[in-house]
Amino acid sequence: MNKTIYLFTKQVKKYMITLILFGPPGSGKGTQAINLVKKYGLLHISTGDLFRYEMKNDTPLGLEAKNYIKKGELVPDSVTIGMLKNKMDANQDVKGYILDGFPRTVPQAEALDELLASQGNEVTALVALDVADEILIERLQGRAATSGRADDADVDIIKNRIEVYKTQTSPVADFYAQTNKTSYVDGVGSIEEISNRLFDAIDAHID
Ligand code: AMP
Repeated sequence: MNKTIYLFTKQVKKYMITLILFGPPGSGKGTQAINLVKKYGLLHISTGDLFRYEMKNDTPLGLEAKNYIKKGELVPDSVTIGMLKNKMDANQDVKGYILDGFPRTVPQAEALDELLASQGNEVTALVALDVADEILIERLQGRAATSGRADDADVDIIKNRIEVYKTQTSPVADFYAQTNKTSYVDGVGSIEEISNRLFDAIDAHID
């Protein structure tokens, strides 16, 4: 596209950055999201946190979600997509979003693309944290004491969550790879080292 027209379009449109922070349970998405928020000034949306808030308040949505979360299964797409849309609608006046734990299925990714397209935007990048299964299990079991999460405390549920990630969620990384938006980052190292790897990967997608 002609550069002048491109810049003009960017100014007229409310250009937002949407980053998908991706990776299996225990890969460090929540920890890294804090540093990404500091660096890019975007709104952090974690669908897991949103579900836990609803469950704590015993809302109808929370009660429904609990049936799936306690088994390490995914909450149905219709429920999850509706919740994400509400959150985005209520926060339109932001520079963009860091999505953590969403999308977790290809239909969720398609719904996200549609939602962003309706606002003249698109996903900027998907950055996937790579961590071996044994390390994930160790980290999640270690985290259970402080997170207080029932789904972190039981090794069978942890294993199911990793399996669900492999079968239902990892295709989302392939989906965005088709448009060259996916980057993989080594998720083992110090928090700072991993943040720097993420910054490099993300900056390569931002013009
Ligand atoms: P998380 O905090 O991201 O590990 O999410 C905790 C649990 O919430 C998951 O194991 C799922 O049961 C549910 N959940 C979170 N995000 C999603 C999503 N995008 N789609 C379906 N279920 C989700």
